Amino acid sequence: MRKVAFYTLGCKLNFSETSTIGRMFEEKGYKKVEFSETPDIFIINTCSVTDNADKKCAKVVREAKKISPNGYVAIIGCYAQLKPKEISELEGVDAVLGAAEKFRLIELLDGFVKTEEPKVLAQEIKETKDFISGYSINDRTRTFLKVQDGCNYQCTFCTIPLARGKSRSDTIEHVIKNAQEIAASETKEVVLTGVNIGDFGIINGKREVRFFDLVKELDKVEGIDRIRISSIEPNLLSNEIIEFCADSERFVPHYHIPLQSGSDKLLQLMRRRYKREVYSSRVELIKKLNPNACIGVDVIVGFPGETEEDFLDTYYFLNELDVSYFHVFTYSERDNTEAVDMEGAVPMKERNRRSKMLRGLSEKKKRAFYESQLGNEYNVLFEHEIQDGYMYGFTDNYVRVRAKYDPMLVNEIKKVKLVSINEEGTVEIEEPEYVYETH
Ligand code: SF4
Repeated sequence: MRKVAFYTLGCKLNFSETSTIGRMFEEKGYKKVEFSETPDIFIINTCSVTDNADKKCAKVVREAKKISPNGYVAIIGCYAQLKPKEISELEGVDAVLGAAEKFRLIELLDGFVKTEEPKVLAQEIKETKDFISGYSINDRTRTFLKVQDGCNYQCTFCTIPLARGKSRSDTIEHVIKNAQEIAASETKEVVLTGVNIGDFGIINGKREVRFFDLVKELDKVEGIDRIRISSIEPNLLSNEIIEFCADSERFVPHYHIPLQSGSDKLLQLMRRRYKREVYSSRVELIKKLNPNACIGVDVIVGFPGETEEDFLDTYYFLNELDVSYFHVFTYSERDNTEAVDMEGAVPMKERNRRSKMLRGLSEKKKRAFYESQLGNEYNVLFEHEIQDGYMYGFTDNYVRVRAKYDPMLVNEIKKVKLVSINEEGTVEIEEPEYVYETH
């Protein structure tokens, strides 16, 4: 039995796709093993958003060659679609496959026989129309369920549409079928995943349904305890979705909404499809319907043209917003984007300073959010990992809690009371009361 190992860089979507490709290998009789278990084949799923994607990819290839010097190394993913030639020149790479080809790699790389020159199979991304669904299977705690791929927006900083192509989706029926399979596997939480999931519903180039239609149908699937929307554009997070989710037993009160900038001038330069008032109105409605909802924000600092005043606009806007944490991205130039040619580049030192300021603000926000939750009781889904005798889990509104390891709690949802914030920044819970039997 030939052994295959996977390495994934990047986002939840990549993880979900690696998992799907892994199952394809297993169906064909390959054995999935860890990276260190001398595999015959290595599949490295790359990302174009991460900084130093090229260096990271080269490093993983070097490690693979150390483990199995004769192993076959195939590179797939966004970076492979964007820079196939560059990757094929890396020492040790046997094949590079683009976005459309990666799901057919077993057939295309027929037997994984090494050739003198690396194989490069990456068609123009514009020609990629197929939607390949899938979900990750890890530890039964949570799964990333892919419902949508690609993006029709053209944000001026983003390479994702170039790497993943046009927006396209699964059918509702097929998503429900996947969700039912997941429910049968006793996985407790489903994270809906895609590039622009609010744009769900385009099938074969035509809008057939909307994301809200999917939300309503998924809410009926028995056996799934929690559904989390991974990230959704503010202009696509409609009031009806927010209102529906606020009443749902399954959709959790946690949103991750990219803002990118709190300055309308910058939002326009980035070609985002909303003004900041839209963003704040979404936050207001979510918090009005559920004051304990958790809201995460993506924000980019140091975009070309961002003056100190614009940055402070963002800073004060975020400071006033009732949100719970941010993911801060320091702008970095990407080939083939419009932003690369824009005027007003911000010096790197300044970008880093702004990034640090926002990270500090995010810490403050997160702490304040956690503090506001102390004393409340929540359902926590406990995970598998054990660290120094402790286990961890998340409440439905995304507070990370720590508890003494108890095998009975693994992959279980338990109601607990949040009592304090510890030195590592996670939340401690009230010790469960044990009933001892006496004779
Ligand atoms: S919405 Fe904008 S940032 Fe998001 S994937 Fe599409 S183009 Fe990129």
